[in-house]
Amino acid sequence: MLYAGVAWSAAGYEVETVDGDGRRMTSPVSFDARRTDELIGHLRGMDHRLVTVVDSTNGILDGRMMAAGLDVYRADPHLLPPRPVFGSVGAGELARTAARRGTASLARLERGRGTQTGREDLLAEWIASAETELAAMTTAGLCLSHGRRDRREVALTFDDGPLPPYTGRILDVLERYGVPATFFCVGMNARAYGEEIVRMREQGHGVANHTWSHPFLPDLTRAQLVEQIDRTGEGIAEAGGGAVPTLFRPPYGSRTPEVMGWLAGTDARTVLWDVAPDDWAMPGADFIATTILDQARPGSVVLLHDGGGDRSQTVDALPAVIEGLLERGFRFVLVDEMVPAAVV
Ligand SMILES: [Zn+2]
Repeated sequence: MLYAGVAWSAAGYEVETVDGDGRRMTSPVSFDARRTDELIGHLRGMDHRLVTVVDSTNGILDGRMMAAGLDVYRADPHLLPPRPVFGSVGAGELARTAARRGTASLARLERGRGTQTGREDLLAEWIASAETELAAMTTAGLCLSHGRRDRREVALTFDDGPLPPYTGRILDVLERYGVPATFFCVGMNARAYGEEIVRMREQGHGVANHTWSHPFLPDLTRAQLVEQIDRTGEGIAEAGGGAVPTLFRPPYGSRTPEVMGWLAGTDARTVLWDVAPDDWAMPGADFIATTILDQARPGSVVLLHDGGGDRSQTVDALPAVIEGLLERGFRFVLVDEMVPAAVV
């Protein structure tokens, strides 16, 4: 059995592999975010049973690694040394922790459950614990889950990209119908695929902030959260030549009272959603379209994904979503244009 740690930093990803005694089997190998297929090929090429380990701040690559047949595990913070202000725990440290502690101490990720497999109850508990803060921020205009219910407007949003070829295909469909959307991009991918950011801006879409590496926010310190937001904002602005985005969406919708307090202290305005067909779990294009058409109401914010894995079902569902909403008399708007329900 070999153990491969996959770390992230400002430069991209790094992989290091050790044996069961923690001895280094390969030198650390770096991959920028455009070369994730090569990273996955590197891991698949190991000639042993392999345990691949990430930490909870590395949330944008596991879906693709699992789809390629790799066994991916998450090591939680209580097992690991502290992280730098920007970056995950190092690849060697992740690999050695897995070798030393064994897979029983780690969470084995499942494709239909994602990076936070096994923490769904905790996530729900934390989200519920932040109800008061969420309501206060919504009233203050610092948070939006949906727009006014008396306006037949809907905002399509796409998270976790940009990621070829799906982002480009989604932009093609939006262009064909002349419909705007808001893209919540991860900084890691925005830096890698700047041409997609440029195209989003040229087509008049909203470009917004979804952190750099898709971390579970309650695992971060305040400084780490602020760094994720600031670096991503700068990365998007540099990639597309536009302004630093002000809209921010927390990965997994993760929040606690403390995290909401930190977000309230930044320039970012937090955007959640009220319609989510869980397209990331690949339930089928028909299910995605039907769920949206059943659940969309005036002011709805629809959560979809252009990155994080194979998004062909999302692409396939999109024409039926747009045509169905147009038939129902909805108008498509950017999240930026929505009047928050609580303010008016
Ligand atoms: Zn996301």
